[in-house]
This record gives sequence, structure tokens and C-alpha cells, in this order.
Amino acid sequence: MSENKSRLAIVIPCFNEELILKQTTETLLNVLNGIIDKGKISADSYIYLVDDGSKDSTWEIIENLHSAYGEKIKGTKFIRNYGNQKALIAGLLGARNIGCDCIVSIDADLQQDENAIETFIDEFHKGADIVSGIRNDRKTDSFFKKYTALCFYKLMNILGVKIPPNHSDFRLVSKRGLDILAQYNEEGLFLRGFFHEIGLKTSYVHFDVKPRALGCSKFNFFSLTSLALNGITAFSIVPLRIIAACGVITMLGSVLLALEVLAEKYIFHTTPGGWATLVILMAFFGGLQIFCLGIIGEYLGQIFNEVKARPRYIKETEIL
Ligand code: UDP
Ligand code: MG
Repeated sequence: MSENKSRLAIVIPCFNEELILKQTTETLLNVLNGIIDKGKISADSYIYLVDDGSKDSTWEIIENLHSAYGEKIKGTKFIRNYGNQKALIAGLLGARNIGCDCIVSIDADLQQDENAIETFIDEFHKGADIVSGIRNDRKTDSFFKKYTALCFYKLMNILGVKIPPNHSDFRLVSKRGLDILAQYNEEGLFLRGFFHEIGLKTSYVHFDVKPRALGCSKFNFFSLTSLALNGITAFSIVPLRIIAACGVITMLGSVLLALEVLAEKYIFHTTPGGWATLVILMAFFGGLQIFCLGIIGEYLGQIFNEVKARPRYIKETEIL
């Protein structure tokens, strides 16, 4: 009877999550079994854990969970830490290879409301290919994270990538979405932009964010900045166009300035004036040029990473 039902895989990226992983997995297993009992998904649905090169006992915990719960718990381990996006992609593609009709990705700290998974499944059964979890608020985030995230989503929208604010990587993806993902080989894939861009039927489900119960956030200022820059450069070339527009405006401005300088020299004979203007302009345009070079450098870096076409990640082992 379960053959006709959808097979769900729950994907969890884990990096140094020894403090909370057992508790999280068992909670999610209960949620999974609850949805199976209601007859909404098939009995062979499972959890797939991706150990993103943890230095602690995360992998041993995954092995123990597999011994305790058998095929319900599957997992893979990277040879080193590749970052949350790569771990998520590996989870999505790994579970697709094992076999499933849809995947829900959720963080190992269970900050996202696991009870929303059933609503995700209901939306999937109503025909959605992507069900995106939207945070009700950012109460659990630090002041810095809250406002940088807000700026990031605003900027992405201005740059033409209309990702809803407070979007998260807590989402359901159908087999159709996974098949499209498998065709995207780019190294720096930013999943929130990707799932938005492919244009499949999407539903939104709002959920409450809980504070992290144990362990600490695995993101710092640098990894968040890198994620944001990657998100922008992977999905928008508008910054490059803004640079070009700045160049044109500067050129026009410099024509006006030249007219003024010529007038000072030949009409008013006051050439020695304007020293301050000169210094300010030099400093301003010096800064602007370096900033523009930095933006171009970001794209160049993106191209550099892509042309090498190295594997996104290397798996050390997998338990099925
Ligand atoms: N994570 C990962 N690799 C990393 C950093 C984080 O797989 O390099 C995982 C982490 O274990 C968690 C999820 O990504 O399951 C989100 O991380 P975290 O909860 O630390 O982020 P925050 O909630 O603070 O944004
Ligand atoms: Mg978290």
C-alpha cells in the first residue's frame, strides 16, 4: 500500500553538532513516523544526515543512530568542512540518488519548527514543487544578524533577485525540483536564489523560530559575508552595471568640473583656489575605483572557481 504514497527524505546538514544531534534526529524520527502513521507518506521515508567534516563525534553519533534505527537513518560524511550550502546540496542530491519523491531540509539545531513539516507535505500533495519556510520573525537572531539579513534581502530584491525576506533553507523540494538541481553544476550555487529562479510552483509556510537549545551557531561574520557575496554574484550582474553607470556619471561630472576649472583659469583668473576640492575628489574617486575593482574581483573570483570545475565536495563515506 505504501508504494502509492510519496517517499519523504529529511535532510540535515551537520557541522560539530554532537551536543544536539541525537535529540534532533529522534525528534524528527517521531515527526516522520507520525506523518507515516497518518498515511501521508510511505513507510520507507527516511532521514539523511550530512556530516560536513565535523571535528567532534558527530559522525559516531550518526553511526550509532543508524545502528539503533536501521535504514530509517542514512548519512554521509565529507572529508573536510565545505560549508552549509555544499552540505545541503550533497544532502539533496544524495537523497535523490537513494530515491525519494520529496525532501525537506532542516537545520540540526531544530531552531525551525519541525511540526511545520506535515504542512509542507500537505502543500506538496496540493501540487507545490517547492514549499518554502518563512520565519515569522527574527527574534532569535542577534542585532547584527537581524539587520544584515534585512539589508541582504533588500539588496537582492533591488538587484532583481526577488527572494522573499526571512526566507530560510527550511523547505520542501519535489523530485522535479531535485532533477533540475542535478543539472546545475556550478560550484557556488546559492540554494535560496536557485529555488526561486527555477520558477516551479511554490507555496510559503510561516513558522516560528526557536532559540538554539544546545551548541552554538556555526556561522560567523566572515562565513555570513561570504554567503551573502556568493548569493549576489551567483545571481545578479546588476552590480557590474551599476559600476558602468557610475563610470558614465563620473565622466559627465568631470566634464562639468573641467568647464568650471577652465572658467576659473581663463575668465575669473582664480586658479590656485580649489585645492580642497581637488583633494576631496581624489580621495573620493580613489576609494570608488578600489571599491569597483573589489566588486569586479568578486565576479572574477566566481569565474575562477567555476572554470576550475572542481568537485563541489568529496564524500569520505556513506551509510545507507
Ligand atoms: N552547518 C554546516 N556546515 C557549516 C556550518 C553550518 O553543515 O560549515 C550546518 C549546521 O550544523 C546547522 C545548519 O548548517 O545544521 C545551520 O547552522 P547554524 O544553526 O549554526 O546557523 P544559524 O542558525 O546560526 O544561522
Ligand atoms: Mg541555527
